[in-house]
Amino acid sequence: MSAQRRSRITNEELFERARRVIPGGVNSPVRAFKSVGGTPFFVAKGKGAYLYDEEGRSYVDFIQSYGAVILGHADSRVTAAINHAALYGSTFGAPTAGEVTLAEMIVERVRGCDMVRLTSSGTEAAMSAIRLARGFTKRDKILKFDGCYHGHSDALLVAGGSGIASLGIPDSVGIPKGAVEDTIVAPYNEVPPLDDSYAAVIVEPVAANMGVVPPKHGFLEELRKKCTENGIVLIFDEVITGFRLGPGAASDYFGVVPDIWCFGKVIGGGMPIGAFGGKREIMEQLAPVGPVYQAGTLSGNPIATATGAIVLNLLDAGSYQILAIRAERLARGLSDAFASAGIEAQVQRLATLVGVFFGSEPVTNYAEAKRSVALGLYPQFFNEMLGRGVAFAPGPFEAIFVGLKHTEKEIDRTVELASEAAKRMIS
Ligand SMILES: *Cc1c(COP(=O)(O)O)cnc(C)c1O
Repeated sequence: MSAQRRSRITNEELFERARRVIPGGVNSPVRAFKSVGGTPFFVAKGKGAYLYDEEGRSYVDFIQSYGAVILGHADSRVTAAINHAALYGSTFGAPTAGEVTLAEMIVERVRGCDMVRLTSSGTEAAMSAIRLARGFTKRDKILKFDGCYHGHSDALLVAGGSGIASLGIPDSVGIPKGAVEDTIVAPYNEVPPLDDSYAAVIVEPVAANMGVVPPKHGFLEELRKKCTENGIVLIFDEVITGFRLGPGAASDYFGVVPDIWCFGKVIGGGMPIGAFGGKREIMEQLAPVGPVYQAGTLSGNPIATATGAIVLNLLDAGSYQILAIRAERLARGLSDAFASAGIEAQVQRLATLVGVFFGSEPVTNYAEAKRSVALGLYPQFFNEMLGRGVAFAPGPFEAIFVGLKHTEKEIDRTVELASEAAKRMIS
């Protein structure tokens, strides 16, 4: 991208062009800035912890593709892996060694997960996990938690947090009643009544699509117990938490083992991917071994699997220690910044995940998250920070993603700017 061309294009012009040919100008709704106001910046490039927009402005980036890039943007080792893989062809519709390797790496790292099937997105992983659980149990009913997001498939697009919550759409039109009549929604952090009519319970072990809401002590353990008692398949949607809380899954972090896991984001290292896995007995219900159909032209894509494999290889226990220390430094700094400006806020952190809620009380479920968001402070904070060159997610229900390229320098600068921003906020 030449400097000359960059200086000719503004974000506003690009957004106008985009809106002519792409609904709302974006390919995923939260990117449109509707809940924070203003014009989205169009990214020209990313490097490490930074994004550079088409106008040449730079931002410390805490969106990190919603957690898909944990090593930061354009890590040279990852870029080399992508280039290398691309030299051999980008998709074949035939098996490759690379997808076996990535599957082995996931299975090795996640205790209790015997097999995985790779998909092209987290949405597909969660959708397929539900079909598999229904096929395995021969039951229809599923339970999800209010404010947990499991992608945009029909049956799961109910009380979904994140982009949907930000837009204030409780679900979506275009979903027939029949598609959701077997989806029961319960408040997060409370173990719901369950019986043997349920095929599956799906949960984010740390909710990270309604802001960051950690599980209460005993919540996951009790869910596990009740699912076992009733023959219900317990699904951990770890599309965010997998390989982000630690070198394995949240199940390893908490010591609670589900029957099926969903993965995505980190495992593709920034390439489109998803995966669902679990016990052999359940996974072998999938076609071509069993009767549950699931497929994908680009599933197990060789560039995505090569990228995911290099990223997982580069992450070790030390990486997560560093991430947790930096996340803690950011959380403490933000908390102090709000306190000294007299802004009531809860900076909620679990290991490497951080989220901000405004208000005087810690947030434990979606109703409380919505109450906090209704105070209307997030758009102010977001815009004050964006103007100072720090990009948080353009929606109040998203996590703050700290990556390995956020050094103390970026964290401390962010905290300093947050102190300025907080003083400008009107509560
Ligand atoms: C992002 C996300 C998904 C959907 O993944 P996509 O790749 O966007 O389809 C599903 N579940 C959770 C918990 C997520 O955070």
